[in-house]
Amino acid sequence: MHIADILAAHKTTFSFEFFPPKTDEAAETLFSHIRELETLKPAFVSVTYGAGGSTRERTHNLVARIKTTTALDPVPHLTCVCHQQADIADIILRYAQHNVSNILALAGDPPAGAAYDRSADAFRHAAGLVSFLRNFKEHPDPRGFGIGVAAFPEGHPATPNRTLEMDFLKAKVDAGADYIVTQLFFDNHDFYDFRERCELAGITIPILAGIMPITSLGTYKRIPELALGARYPAKLQRAILRAGADSDALKRIGIHYATEQSRDLLDNHVRGIHFYTLNHSHATRELYKTLGMQG
Ligand SMILES: Cc1cc2nc3c(=O)[nH]c(=O)nc-3n(C[C@H](O)[C@H](O)[C@H](O)COP(=O)(O)OP(=O)(O)OC[C@H]3O[C@@H](n4cnc5c(N)ncnc54)[C@H](O)[C@@H]3O)c2cc1C
Repeated sequence: MHIADILAAHKTTFSFEFFPPKTDEAAETLFSHIRELETLKPAFVSVTYGAGGSTRERTHNLVARIKTTTALDPVPHLTCVCHQQADIADIILRYAQHNVSNILALAGDPPAGAAYDRSADAFRHAAGLVSFLRNFKEHPDPRGFGIGVAAFPEGHPATPNRTLEMDFLKAKVDAGADYIVTQLFFDNHDFYDFRERCELAGITIPILAGIMPITSLGTYKRIPELALGARYPAKLQRAILRAGADSDALKRIGIHYATEQSRDLLDNHVRGIHFYTLNHSHATRELYKTLGMQG
């Protein structure tokens, strides 16, 4: 379903994010979690795209499987890094042929390790990809793809000038984005302030808040690197450090914190919450239950 119709049908959207697993076994495990999450009836689910196109086929295959075997509406991520225009045209044509309605358009980060020369990339920034998607005419829906873009409530590290960063976000919106999904954040004040700054910049498309429960010490350590710029408020950090190696306590703390964050966002009329699931279903299901939401 086109994102405009999804947004019209839901006062608040709830959506889940997955990444494509590396092995067949992990894919089956993920699919059992997807089946459990399907009962919560999210507005859509999104599937990430590996750095530099490293999951090109796996992202496509997971999206196609979700589309053909579940009632869920998959939104593939697509990134500019390492892609020429013909690659991008091939990828989106296949999605259009599968009746995939929406795409999250991103710059992407270069593959880890070797320095990467971006001079052959069709687009340096996500705004170029948004324009390209907007001008793609071979979609069965006459409106073309619904288009999402990313934003960073705490700021993106490549643009320390936050006013300029907002101009760049506005450029993505003006190029044709329909909605924004934020980087995960742990302090709602950052989100509320970001939302107000968007309003001041004339950005009026829906903003979906990125939420991730911290459920293990490993995740706690990895997130600051994966979600550059994201910060743990001291009260969350203190609770996690108190739990230490007690993995059950840590899980309870993480889920409780994300539940309280979500409750506060709902009280403050958030347009949608996008849950980073890390391919598991337990935390999201617990959170739903505590918030009293229907599956
Ligand atoms: C919700 C979400 C999902 C994500 N999913 C994926 C994924 O699936 N795969 C993946 O590889 N990565 C993913 N990422 C990470 C993302 O690709 C990187 O963080 C990337 O560095 C920023 O992407 P962007 O789309 O916001 O880029 P852009 O909008 O292009 O911005 C990137 C940087 O360039 C600056 N900029 C923009 N336009 C200009 C301009 N004209 N001149 C100079 N500077 C400019 C921006 O201010 C920003 O600092 C995701 C991030 C989020 C928040």
